[in-house]
Amino acid sequence: MLREFRADLHIHTCLSPCADLHMTPSAIVKTATENRLDIIAITDHNSAENIIGTKKAAEDTGLTVLAGMEVTSSEEVHILALFDDTEYALKLQDIVYKHLASDRDHDGKSGEQVVVNEKDEVMGFNERLLIGATSLTTQSIVDIIYSLGGLSVASHIDREGFGIISKLGFIPDDLKFDALEISPNTDREKAEELFRNYKKFQWISSSDAHYIEDIGRRRTSFFIKEATIAEMRSAMKNTGGRRVEWG
Ligand SMILES: [Zn+2]
Ligand SMILES: [Zn+2]
Repeated sequence: MLREFRADLHIHTCLSPCADLHMTPSAIVKTATENRLDIIAITDHNSAENIIGTKKAAEDTGLTVLAGMEVTSSEEVHILALFDDTEYALKLQDIVYKHLASDRDHDGKSGEQVVVNEKDEVMGFNERLLIGATSLTTQSIVDIIYSLGGLSVASHIDREGFGIISKLGFIPDDLKFDALEISPNTDREKAEELFRNYKKFQWISSSDAHYIEDIGRRRTSFFIKEATIAEMRSAMKNTGGRRVEWG
């Protein structure tokens, strides 16, 4: 039996230097459930360290937390990676950390990168330059995500900053994205006009939340059997009656 799962697949936590420090596991889970979301993904910049805390915070709530990451390619393109299990996000993190430029210098310009547990207790601070670009190309990131069994989504393709179209000029046909993401800045009608050349890809929309009040401001409905990556992949491919809807 297929049913609707409301998803917001792009949420940053206090681990991302650009996100609000109130973006803690318990606050994110509370807001997501209040907003009647069924699935969220934690997608911090180049790190997966707050996934475990958020998954634990969601235990017994009925909310599914996907293990995600927003990876920055060498061309400064943002790519979302989505997995069921933390294990695979951590494998991706190992690769990403090996390809991150350097540790951050403490210039005081960017925010703290806080690792927290399910009770929002501070477990430590990440000192890597998480906001920086990796030395991995967009193509290699998509390939790595695929090899780890995840879904790859081109982030906010309508944005100038870190969107694939503004960075590469277009979306190469040989990039096997499972979906393209439209940001809350662009509505469905406008997207149809702007991106009609990319109809062969599935489109989704998510909040890219950096603040609590952003969570769920854009969502995508998946008509699937259960909240798993395999089911969501089928919906993105429109197989077995499964489908995706937004806007
Ligand atoms: Zn981004
Ligand atoms: Zn983001």
